[in-house]
Amino acid sequence: MTRPTVGILGGGQLARMLALAGAPLGLRFLVMDTASDACASQFAPLRVGDYRDEAVLAEFAAKIDVATFDFENVPAESAEWLSARVPVFPNPRALAVAQDRLAEKTLFRELDIPVPAFATVDTREELDRALASVGVPCILKTRRLGYDGKGQFRIRSAGDAEAAWQALGPQAAGVGLIVEAFVPFERELSVVAVRGRDGEFRTWPLTANWHVDGVLSASLAPARVDAELAATAVAHARRLAERLDYVGVFALELFCRGGELLANEMAPRVHNSGHWTIEGAETSQFQNHLRAVLGLPLGSTAMRGHACMLNWIGQMPDPAAVLGQAGGHWHDYGKEPRAGRKVGHATLRADTPGALAEALERVGRALDRDAQVAPPVAALRD
Ligand code: AMP
Repeated sequence: MTRPTVGILGGGQLARMLALAGAPLGLRFLVMDTASDACASQFAPLRVGDYRDEAVLAEFAAKIDVATFDFENVPAESAEWLSARVPVFPNPRALAVAQDRLAEKTLFRELDIPVPAFATVDTREELDRALASVGVPCILKTRRLGYDGKGQFRIRSAGDAEAAWQALGPQAAGVGLIVEAFVPFERELSVVAVRGRDGEFRTWPLTANWHVDGVLSASLAPARVDAELAATAVAHARRLAERLDYVGVFALELFCRGGELLANEMAPRVHNSGHWTIEGAETSQFQNHLRAVLGLPLGSTAMRGHACMLNWIGQMPDPAAVLGQAGGHWHDYGKEPRAGRKVGHATLRADTPGALAEALERVGRALDRDAQVAPPVAALRD
């Protein structure tokens, strides 16, 4: 294949960073999105259309050599339809499993990957039964279409059941609901992994993550965990990838409590907790995803020092504070500011944990974001 065209379903910042990573490989891209201002369109041609529209999909398929995703909620039937015409990676079955919290948790259990207690809920009565079996506190979540803490209701006591049902019950008929035990975790970790077409499997060093209101705020790599825990996390990710015959990058999100790991979910795509790999690793998650879907040799996932990524939500801060640091890198996704929207990120990279902590503190002070940098700084100084 010379200079293949990669089709990406979804045209957000992940597609944009895939296109940027693919440029040195001489790749061409075609992005499909429902929005005409999708930010990847600043770097790649965009086809605006509905993912369920077969005429649009047919035109898309005719122009590409391989298809992949920046968005996991593309209808599984559309991915299936496309896969009859062009190679699609990850395969539609892996996408379908990752789209449904019930299918995902059931698979985790089958693979001996521990998960929090859970129960499905389709009716108000089932919610009461689920609360009795799972216990409180717990979280009611939509089975599908939830991300970044959306489609979730925290239940602190049985008295919250009615409010939770009022909030999410209307979605029970369409997408189904699930109740999960609330995990009082000490840490959240993710394994960002890649599997090639030939089955070669690699992971980047484990990443520690901090969320605010369900949205990722900061990621630190390498996470300081003992070697046995890291090996367990990697083994979970490998079993998952092999069972799904997965090709490409994915993230497995884990809660860590009392030295044990519980799986929260898998993201069947490049992941926000892997953005630090652009400057912090020998090969980024974006480049390795492209190499995987094209059947090219995977690049080394070795780290270059220590890295911390800070997400910018709502609006971009002043870049000078980050650009003024040695090892400071800036990513503006070219989006309009909007409350709750991921508009960019910064990565700070340093050779030692101490130097990284100091750089983070300087950025925190300059941008008045001490609260955002405090958790990674504490982890680096621990
Ligand atoms: P999710 O959309 O399921 O990834 O949830 C977003 C974030 O909400 C997670 O990264 C956690 O910080 C928090 N969260 C989700 N589920 C649980 C749970 N069962 N116990 C504790 N925190 C949770």
